[in-house]
Amino acid sequence: MRQIDLPKVYLVAKTMLEPDGLEAYLRDIGNPDWKTDPNAADGENLIEAAGRMCYRSWQPYDPEKPEASNPNVANVRKGNDAYIGNVLKSGHGSILEHVNATFICRNVSRVFTHELVRHRAGMAYSQESLRYVRLDDLPFWIPDSARANAEAQSKFEEVIDFLENTQKELAGIFGMADIEDFTTKKQLTSMFRRLAPIGIGTTIMVTGNLRAWRHIIAMRTSSHAEEEIRIVTGQIAEICKEQFPNVFQDMSFDSREEAWIFSHSKV
Ligand SMILES: Cc1cc2nc3c(=O)[nH]c(=O)nc-3n(C[C@H](O)[C@H](O)[C@H](O)COP(=O)(O)OP(=O)(O)OC[C@H]3O[C@@H](n4cnc5c(N)ncnc54)[C@H](O)[C@@H]3O)c2cc1C
Repeated sequence: MRQIDLPKVYLVAKTMLEPDGLEAYLRDIGNPDWKTDPNAADGENLIEAAGRMCYRSWQPYDPEKPEASNPNVANVRKGNDAYIGNVLKSGHGSILEHVNATFICRNVSRVFTHELVRHRAGMAYSQESLRYVRLDDLPFWIPDSARANAEAQSKFEEVIDFLENTQKELAGIFGMADIEDFTTKKQLTSMFRRLAPIGIGTTIMVTGNLRAWRHIIAMRTSSHAEEEIRIVTGQIAEICKEQFPNVFQDMSFDSREEAWIFSHSKV
């Protein structure tokens, strides 16, 4: 058994602006009096551009710039923080869907991945294949709730060691070392995994748009959610807050509940 200290999250990609394209568009609509906010993340500037494009609210009305302004708009908000703050308040969250963040979640269990993939809207997943990857050791995170009890911890270790040996014994029974045909190896590997524990450590890559991440963080760091998914989505929340402070400006850590909460839910 390879004991895992803690599941870990890595931010591996996020949406970036293509500044030349955005500038060319702004030039073509008459050079509005608007610039990307240097204090905001690329993705946050993209969200603001999406919103301003919808309402033609790049700047207060100027009849000389009919494609960049509109007669209904006399004042515009300044700064990405204030702009996105108003979007969150009014619940116009669809523009948050333009920005993605991709994470690799390492040493997470199939308990966790099964819960995560229930989130469908705005999400993409790639999960380590246990048909291809044969289990010769069993990486395993023992939850804190089990570690807190010495008898429970030793029961976990005993069962995992037994299941790990079972994987090796099955490989021996079927002579895996001598099989060259990959299809046969895959079929057998898939059969063996039925005797692997659902708590086995594995890896998943997940991409979500920021509207979806807000929803998932709220649901899955809640005290009603499961121990492991709370830890992993808690790490995702911290990264999102750091990377996209304006989009997550209304998210704060409630130390009593030990959960990330939002002033504006379901934007
Ligand atoms: C504490 C907790 C306990 C749970 N217990 C169980 C359980 O016992 N059994 C179980 O099966 N599941 C359980 N779940 C999973 C839960 O039911 C959802 O499947 C999961 O959280 C995905 O969330 P979501 O439905 O908001 O989907 P997401 O894909 O995250 O969707 C985001 C939002 O988009 C909208 N949306 C998405 N798809 C549709 C659609 N097809 N039609 C209309 N609107 C849509 C909804 O507003 C939805 O909230 C639990 C979840 C939690 C957090």
